[in-house]
Amino acid sequence: MNSRVIAGFDVDAVRREFPILDQQVNGQPLVYLDNAATMQKPAAVIDAIAHYYRHDNANVHRGAHALASRATEAMEQARERVAEFLGGVAREEILWTRGTTESINLVANSWGRANLQPGDEILLTTMEHHANIVPWQMVAAATGARIRVLPITDDGALDLEALPGLLGERTRLVAITQMSNVLGTVNPVAEIARMAHAARALVLIDGAQAINHFEVDVRALGADFYALSGHKLFGPTGIGVLYGRRELLDAMPPWQGGGQMIERVSFDGTTYAQVPWKFEAGTPHIAGAIGLGAAVAWLQNLDRDAAERHERELLARLDTGLDAIAGVRRIGTAAARAAIASFVVDGVHPTDVGVLLDQQGVAVRAGHHCTMPLMARFGIPGTVRASLAPYNTLAEVDRLLVALDKALGFLR
Ligand code: PLP
Repeated sequence: MNSRVIAGFDVDAVRREFPILDQQVNGQPLVYLDNAATMQKPAAVIDAIAHYYRHDNANVHRGAHALASRATEAMEQARERVAEFLGGVAREEILWTRGTTESINLVANSWGRANLQPGDEILLTTMEHHANIVPWQMVAAATGARIRVLPITDDGALDLEALPGLLGERTRLVAITQMSNVLGTVNPVAEIARMAHAARALVLIDGAQAINHFEVDVRALGADFYALSGHKLFGPTGIGVLYGRRELLDAMPPWQGGGQMIERVSFDGTTYAQVPWKFEAGTPHIAGAIGLGAAVAWLQNLDRDAAERHERELLARLDTGLDAIAGVRRIGTAAARAAIASFVVDGVHPTDVGVLLDQQGVAVRAGHHCTMPLMARFGIPGTVRASLAPYNTLAEVDRLLVALDKALGFLR
């Protein structure tokens, strides 16, 4: 199969930038379809991290020597790049965190504990990742706030008709994923944000999945907060971003104390640094931030429209192929979907399917994908999930389909 069938997108050239893809697993060329869990890293990212450790490693902000200045400059340049990438926001609005999970925990613990009162409401949806559920449950337990949940339809779209009835004067925050990590559903977050703001609620968008598939302008989306993970954006693990509107961040208390986040410390009292440093206690993940900056630069050089068209073509092939296999049922068939296909197989546990695919060199994920309420909604323990990246090919999608057919033949 010619992998270059999609006009204007040279997938072979993209693949060459990802050294990890060129390997055999269980005697077969690796087919990596676990991109929603973590994406692979282009050589530009690996090299940027290695360069930092080989040449510039030093602690940031506090040193008076050349290496400390270089490390600080590289990290702050990365922050500026992310600020530009998210639609040209101010660099002070970009906070380094460990990832989406920590970004959401920051908002819950800082904004949430300072602002939520008994009876206030936080609106989530059935399709949220545990990272956008559990921090709110914890802060609700601490403040007396209440969690409400926007349901989904059978095809895995948000039930927008239920939204007006759930948004009210008690709603303080709507926290919602831009794209489901299980269903692939792409949510109309800008429309929801408009409705939330009309009800005077703030909006937090979990961008963990969407950010690598679509261009994002956080202000156009109406995000008061936007959370993302570096490792799902071709960057390293252990680094992520929280975008927050400046006036909100200025008014929020720090959530962790220590070095770097202070202006002055004495035993009589401490004053805090300005944003973003107020929220960055301790030595940050400097190499991670630099690696994420390199990942963003890499992505800015990619033809993103062509990459999106390519992924759409792959998804269409995947959907059609899965629908043609007897006993396979796709979970998540909403009209607005991207890059993810989840499915169950009659009478077979998802994990068994995953293991049999791995034996044929095909990497997918099987389980609840940290979305137990969503699994409960569909009455299933888990799904098998194939998730796509621009470096995947039609030939790889076909390899998955053939391997699945073979695995099911073995299991039945
Ligand atoms: N939100 C969504 C939609 C995700 O898919 C994930 C990870 O799978 C997370 C949040 C958590 O991301 P991380 O583990 O990188 O903090």
